[in-house]
Amino acid sequence: MKTYKSIITFDSSCDLPIYDEVDVLVCGGGPAGVAAAETSARHGNKTLLVERLGFLGGAAVAGYSGTICGMYYGCDNPLDEEPKQCVYGWTDKFYQEMKKCNAVTKPQPYGKTFLVPFDPQMWKEVAENMVVGAGAKILYHTNIIGVIKDEDVFKGIVIDTKSGMAQIRSKIIIDSTGDADIIYRAGYDYTMGNNGSIQNPTMIFRLGGVDTKKFFDYWGEDRISPDKVSEAMKEAISKGANLPRLKVWVYDTTRPNELFMNVTLITGRDGHELNVCDPDDHTEAEEVARKQVREYAEFFKQYIPGCENSFINDLSCEIGVRQTRSIVGIDKITNDDVAKAKKRPDGIVRCPWPIELHSGEKPYLFWLINDYYEIPYGALVPAIGENLIVAGRNLCAEHQALASCRVTAQCFGYGHAAGLAADKAIKDNKRLRDLKGEYIRKLLNEENAKLD
Ligand SMILES: Cc1cc2nc3c(=O)[nH]c(=O)nc-3n(C[C@H](O)[C@H](O)[C@H](O)COP(=O)(O)OP(=O)(O)OC[C@H]3O[C@@H](n4cnc5c(N)ncnc54)[C@H](O)[C@@H]3O)c2cc1C
Repeated sequence: MKTYKSIITFDSSCDLPIYDEVDVLVCGGGPAGVAAAETSARHGNKTLLVERLGFLGGAAVAGYSGTICGMYYGCDNPLDEEPKQCVYGWTDKFYQEMKKCNAVTKPQPYGKTFLVPFDPQMWKEVAENMVVGAGAKILYHTNIIGVIKDEDVFKGIVIDTKSGMAQIRSKIIIDSTGDADIIYRAGYDYTMGNNGSIQNPTMIFRLGGVDTKKFFDYWGEDRISPDKVSEAMKEAISKGANLPRLKVWVYDTTRPNELFMNVTLITGRDGHELNVCDPDDHTEAEEVARKQVREYAEFFKQYIPGCENSFINDLSCEIGVRQTRSIVGIDKITNDDVAKAKKRPDGIVRCPWPIELHSGEKPYLFWLINDYYEIPYGALVPAIGENLIVAGRNLCAEHQALASCRVTAQCFGYGHAAGLAADKAIKDNKRLRDLKGEYIRKLLNEENAKLD
């Protein structure tokens, strides 16, 4: 990797032009940032959400993750059982808004659980209406490139726009960049997967022109591919196709004759694992992914019944990134917590989602059946740094645990919790690290989280 200047900090004498001064600054508008901004603004705080793209949704929309995972309990027989909801709160609030717009399908069986595909376009609109409707302001097309802090007390951030640089001052900062950019720019410790090894990215696409009845008659109800598809892939590979992932996920969408294709597995041209925080690797990921999408689309057209007349409708606007930096928090979610379905009094989010680890030719899956674990409030609070909390996939988690607790239903929950914590820190004049997880849990329950 080439060398970059990573730490960009100013103290409060920073004389860059001031764009705004707010109570709560939400950095990044993925699922976690959206929930955090709506919650903070709804409680009366002057709230600004800064996002580098021109729409909300993060990996869920720009990366076409395409479904809400993590809402339902796992079960032994999803093909014969009704889905049982496990996660409520902000996740359910968003889900109900999407339902009103016919922007979600009914829950679909996925291995030993269920997930809910959504319309990415409506995701953007519903989220924007909720955030702006609650009174928050959004600033799109703006990169966060530095922080303002005195010692370890955060005062604001530095932004870069087409018009130049500026600063934004804030009482509380919520880092929902997915990549822990605020922690990184401040020069604080972070971890990266399993000793630097992270899950591979995936480029998702939509396949149009599919006879979906014929397709599912062949494929079966489970959205995870049956063994006969892996066998067909092996045959195609023997004839020269490049299909590095043999177990793939395919969902029907809210539109007719269309499938969401979570099928690619992106590594470098020489097989090396790609670190998307490195712009060279990130570029290679996009280039390799577009070629691989063509290979899979061709495979489906040639081998899979119902796809004879199919075509690529569209690709996600950027490669989907599952994992980069995790903060070092005052508490952590461990691999063992997931395996043992650990509950805790300071738990602020429930997670019934399996460990779904994307590396190697088949993703590794570890199911939680009729059970869930809880994520502690302390996993959102950095070990160093005041007035700063994280929300989303950059929370403090061990590698395998993150492969479970990173999905959308939980990211909404982290945003909800961080938004409430920011509100209380301001109103009760307390440090974020001094708020008790039990107290945040109580506040979440007052907003339909149903944690007890
Ligand atoms: C290929 C793939 C498939 C997936 N499939 C599913 C699925 O089926 N179901 C499911 O529930 N989950 C799925 N996920 C996981 C889910 O999409 C993510 O975990 C979730 O989006 C993480 O939310 P987040 O808010 O933490 O971060 P992100 O979604 O990553 O959002 C971070 C936001 O911050 C912005 N940002 C980052 N840095 C800056 C900066 N410096 N300045 C300004 N803005 C910044 C980004 O543009 C982005 O909008 C999938 C993920 C991937 C990659």
